[in-house]
Amino acid sequence: MKRHLRLLATVIATTQILAACSSVDVTEPTSTSAPTTSTPAPAVPTTSPSTTTTTTTTTTTTLPPLDITTDIATQRMLEDLEVLLENGPREGGTDAEKSAASYIRRTLADLGLAVQSEQVPLPEDATSENLWVTFGDGPVQVLIGAHYDTVRTSPGADDNGSGVIGLLELARRLDRDPIAGLTVTVVFFGAEERTFGMTPEDHHYGSRLRGATLENANQLPDWMISLDMVGGTHPLTGVSLTGTDQSAVDVIVTAGESIGLEVERLERGEISDHATFAKLGVPSVFVWRPGNPGYHTEEDAAVDGATLVENLKLIEAALKILGE
Ligand SMILES: [Zn+2]
Repeated sequence: MKRHLRLLATVIATTQILAACSSVDVTEPTSTSAPTTSTPAPAVPTTSPSTTTTTTTTTTTTLPPLDITTDIATQRMLEDLEVLLENGPREGGTDAEKSAASYIRRTLADLGLAVQSEQVPLPEDATSENLWVTFGDGPVQVLIGAHYDTVRTSPGADDNGSGVIGLLELARRLDRDPIAGLTVTVVFFGAEERTFGMTPEDHHYGSRLRGATLENANQLPDWMISLDMVGGTHPLTGVSLTGTDQSAVDVIVTAGESIGLEVERLERGEISDHATFAKLGVPSVFVWRPGNPGYHTEEDAAVDGATLVENLKLIEAALKILGE
């Protein structure tokens, strides 16, 4: 809480400095979905059913301008990252992972957003959690996800603090300016990493549960984007699951062209949460900056702040294309 107050003070101070720009009042959420009962994903231990709850707050927060060309967005993302890193590695099912979930929930709720969540059963009676918020009511459904857990041995600044802080900032922006034609669901997945040393299937728990739940409800999205490891300096890369639909990668590459950014293409195996949705037939892309030498080690302790806004620009350009 002390941290939160300090951040709020920073935000207020920044607002005052930039008084010439218009500030934005963020008030009530525009829509909420009814709570639903979820069913566990295949291959996920099913010791107890997971349920979805809705949390609504009426907090009113004044944000500084969200002009993406300023340093404000970067500063806010780096402050989010600092909080995520406070408790060390966020392995699925641990208290540190739950602290990260709490921070994400609080940050979204403080915007006045309706945060939905579901418990994710893990091996050995552990649990993780998925959290999500939805923006807009357009006919095209887009799910954008980032996992907030880490492997046991890494603080996970890049993998995947970088994706989480990008999605938190995206949520702030979509809350102010939903994109025409779209319903965008921003999901924070738990327990993506392989944590228990068992089989190759022992990972992607959060996204597998969400994918199975949406499939069972006949509510799979039209498109899926996974933002994972985008805190480095390597050019942005659109990755498809090997042998699956390329159209989401096409959108990311075209989005890059629209903002003067060359986006590389790759096909890889099941290395991020997009794989879950690709296997369910949803055009899916993993947005990545490969080549982090500290991957899955204690060296993954910082991100390159200069590239964070570029990530946001690419995602927003892609969303605009999907909404057309
Ligand atoms: Zn990752």
